[in-house]
Amino acid sequence: MLAAHYRTTILFITGLFFTANQLAFAEQSNWLKEGKVAISLSYDDALLSQLENVVPALNERDLKASFYVVPLSVEFKNRLAQWRTIAKQGHELGNHSLFHACQGSRPGREWVLPENDLSTRTVNAMVNEITVANTLLNAVDGETVRTFTPPCFDQQTQNGNYLLAIKSQFIAVKSCDASNFSVLIAPENLTAKQIIVFIISQPKNIKLINILFHGVGGDHLITATAEHNALLDYLVIHRDKYWVDTYRNIRLAVPPRPDEFPNSDVCPG
Ligand SMILES: [Zn+2]
Repeated sequence: MLAAHYRTTILFITGLFFTANQLAFAEQSNWLKEGKVAISLSYDDALLSQLENVVPALNERDLKASFYVVPLSVEFKNRLAQWRTIAKQGHELGNHSLFHACQGSRPGREWVLPENDLSTRTVNAMVNEITVANTLLNAVDGETVRTFTPPCFDQQTQNGNYLLAIKSQFIAVKSCDASNFSVLIAPENLTAKQIIVFIISQPKNIKLINILFHGVGGDHLITATAEHNALLDYLVIHRDKYWVDTYRNIRLAVPPRPDEFPNSDVCPG
């Protein structure tokens, strides 16, 4: 009994000082010195194909990624326990707002519902929505440090750009990394080879490559499952060159400079 209590205490104390994320951070905080390139794999919109085809593939290879979930998604609502497990496995649940408001007037945006048209929202409405999304995600995963991906990368509401108003809530925003440090690709129907060519063709100053997926083997903006898995295999084989981790852990290792986030010059939208 005493031994069990002692063991529990040790685990508790260890847990106080070293969460899984912190251990990963400690292991990888020298990645720049080691000459590695950080790879942030991210998956937007809380899609069924991600639960079925991405999470198992990542876990089999011990790779960590960021999932920018939309709480409005049926797959988020119906599988909350599964998303909680994903967070416990070391993946990041990122903020992607509550309702995924985008500019409905842009080409190809027929799917944007009138009630979710960003051009009808105010800055304050977006701040409220994103604040509640953070609270909800905290209730799911217990995390207080988080990153954000703007839905559709859009930023303009009816009375201004909302990103500056949410700055204090995040350590980094996807698409807002400095362009002399980072690049972003959002594959749609690309092969693993095409994505790998994109990775290896980057100049030496690029130390962070964001690969932003949506559907994998289903849903929308699809990447084929076999191609996605082949990319993961390539990253595992080349662990000496690439540090694959959550966007949160990567940006904890190298926090954005004050002029980097969010700045309209480096944050297209
Ligand atoms: Zn999205």
